[in-house]
Amino acid sequence: MVDRSESDSRTLLRRLRDTLATPGDGQDRLDRITHLIAHSMRTQVCSIYLFRDPETLELCATEGLNPEAVHKTRMRLGEGLVGRVARTGQPANTANAPAEPGFRYMPETGEEIYSSFLGVPIQRVGEKLGVLVVQSREARLFSDDEVYGLEVVAMVLAEMTELGAFTGDQGGIGAAHRFPVMFRGSTGQEGAAEGRVWLHEPRVVVTNPVGDDPDAEKARLDEAVSTLQAQIDDMLIGSASMDKEQRQVLEAYKMLAHSRGWVRRMSEDIDLGLSAEAAVEKEQSTARARLEQSTDAYLRERLHDLDDLSNRLLRLLTGQGKDTGAELPENPVLVARNIGPAELLDYGRKLKGVVLEEGSVGSHAAIVARALAIPLVIHAARITNEALNGDPILVDGDQGIVHLRPEETVAAAFRDKIAMQAEAQKRYADLRNQPAVDRAGNRVSLMMNAGLMADLPSLKGSGADGVGLFRTELQFLIRSRVPRRGELAALYKRVIDAAQGAKVQFRTLDIGSDKVLPYMKPQEEPNPAMGWRAIRLGLDKPGVLRMQLQALIRASEGRPLSVMFPFVATPDEFNAAKATLLREIDREATLGRPVPSDLRVGAMLETPSLAFAPDSFFAGCDFISIGGNDLKQFFFAADRENERVRRRYDTLDVSFLGFIEQIITRCAASDTALSFCGEDAGRPIEALTFAALGIRKLSMRPASIGPVKHLLRRADLTELKAAIDAARAGGVQTVRPAVTAYLAGLQG
Ligand code: PEP
Ligand code: MG
Repeated sequence: MVDRSESDSRTLLRRLRDTLATPGDGQDRLDRITHLIAHSMRTQVCSIYLFRDPETLELCATEGLNPEAVHKTRMRLGEGLVGRVARTGQPANTANAPAEPGFRYMPETGEEIYSSFLGVPIQRVGEKLGVLVVQSREARLFSDDEVYGLEVVAMVLAEMTELGAFTGDQGGIGAAHRFPVMFRGSTGQEGAAEGRVWLHEPRVVVTNPVGDDPDAEKARLDEAVSTLQAQIDDMLIGSASMDKEQRQVLEAYKMLAHSRGWVRRMSEDIDLGLSAEAAVEKEQSTARARLEQSTDAYLRERLHDLDDLSNRLLRLLTGQGKDTGAELPENPVLVARNIGPAELLDYGRKLKGVVLEEGSVGSHAAIVARALAIPLVIHAARITNEALNGDPILVDGDQGIVHLRPEETVAAAFRDKIAMQAEAQKRYADLRNQPAVDRAGNRVSLMMNAGLMADLPSLKGSGADGVGLFRTELQFLIRSRVPRRGELAALYKRVIDAAQGAKVQFRTLDIGSDKVLPYMKPQEEPNPAMGWRAIRLGLDKPGVLRMQLQALIRASEGRPLSVMFPFVATPDEFNAAKATLLREIDREATLGRPVPSDLRVGAMLETPSLAFAPDSFFAGCDFISIGGNDLKQFFFAADRENERVRRRYDTLDVSFLGFIEQIITRCAASDTALSFCGEDAGRPIEALTFAALGIRKLSMRPASIGPVKHLLRRADLTELKAAIDAARAGGVQTVRPAVTAYLAGLQG
């Protein structure tokens, strides 16, 4: 960097900072700033364009252009040179602006006499705020130092914008984080919620973007970088138990943290007058803008690493931890890039909704959100950049849509939707003590799925007959180590106690595939959903299975016990698992401990193969529960986690229903109890179809019991079966239209 420009730059930045300290409204400050910059850069024009809304830039202040154009001249994102700078996040530097492709002439500004143009983005950590432009009459290209210097100035403007320096009533100057923004993600858990943003990791606030003493700032930066490097080295030393991917991320961190270029660029920014914090943010923003343009998935993934490192560095420099001391707002909606199941569980039911940038339908966070019945939207790209703690937010878990700082009309419509849902819930709650019977008196047992202690209060409130599926893996997923037998026994006992005599069907550990324990050595499997999971893992490594079975036996304290094994593909697997359970019961008996007064052992039918098992299997199995989530994915060969295909095939497809009927027939022949516990059991149309075909026990999330019971009580399952059969006889591919038409015709 050239010395002259360094001291010029420092003087300019200090003056900019002083404008923050002086009284006046946002417009005064902007006007003074454009004047200062034009003077310092020795250009005739300096203009500041800020976003009016996410698609429109507005000229908010100018030195040199026609003042009448201020707050009148606007351009779309990508339009003209200014729009291009805003869209790409990269500077535009030209000696002959009118000759540039895409140049847009704006007569009201009087800019035609200016030939050279330099525009740089005003952006902060990937968030676009506006564009800073200088123009001059003589046709010259700005030097690299000048471009760099203007970028540094823009960084200070970005921080000042963030601090609210330019808000004011004159002309409604665009302040960051004020516009309504809609995010289109995917559904993680249905439901609608209105609340206020609670950032899981709030952004660091940089209160002083300008540094007075470059040497002192560089010393602070060096110290923070050394601490950061040491922290990462420590993490790598402790990474022996991590999986390959986690280690790779750490290695990438290490490379970045030790990168000389990164530290050198930040030092140069400090030489030009930025504080250490602002220098970190500037490099983060610049690199972000570059990486975001890249089509290379690997490079884009590095964005996360860069953000993480920069945030760590900022926290070291500012001393701001994750805990900012802010109070959880009323009706908090958690907004995060991602969150672990244990952390989500810590927040618990306090949360009205959860919005994640990452995640997947089967992720642990999604499993917990579902267990807690909290609306969840995943894949809401960049929301952590936009949202501020306390911002109003609407979460539409049904559509996978989030409205941040919504317009009043949107909020009003949304409230109607929530009110309708609440109304329906109330109606369902009134049904709590009514039997789940159809008009003809056919009874269907409605059970609930659970996996956390937190679910159990719903047992009474939902009107469920018991717990048809207790997913034991959640207790393993939310811990950082394998839970001990005593802990599990105490927990299972509380579950059985809470059920007050109602049946609880405990499913043994279903891990592997998408459910990977944080402390389990992950297996590299090309196709984990069809890999080493659930009972396969339990039989091959029986230690944990035996420990869990012992805990269940002890928890029963001589009361009845129901255990089911997940993902059984062959009778051999079921027999081996059952034998293990019986051995453990014998062992407990030998030790003089109480054993279950009544033992029921079942299998989850989640692979088509089990439906074709010999009769002896069905005869030897106390009950079968159809795990429709898995069964359907294998029946149609359509990955339940893959957004492209997971909704492609209809559960009411005649082929799938025919298959389900075969299972019903086989269970009936051997008098084996049958239930259905996949997600479809909680969807009223699907639930009634299964019941009409003959499955009279359905297990679902607690919130679905009301809607299913409501519909069931209005229907006649025999009539519905006739409608289904008539449709099938007519050669349809799916009976959905016939079922929907029948249900729509019901009275009441
Ligand atoms: C299923 O597969 O339908 C099921 C209930 O199990 P999970 O969703 O836990 O795999
Ligand atoms: Mg399953």
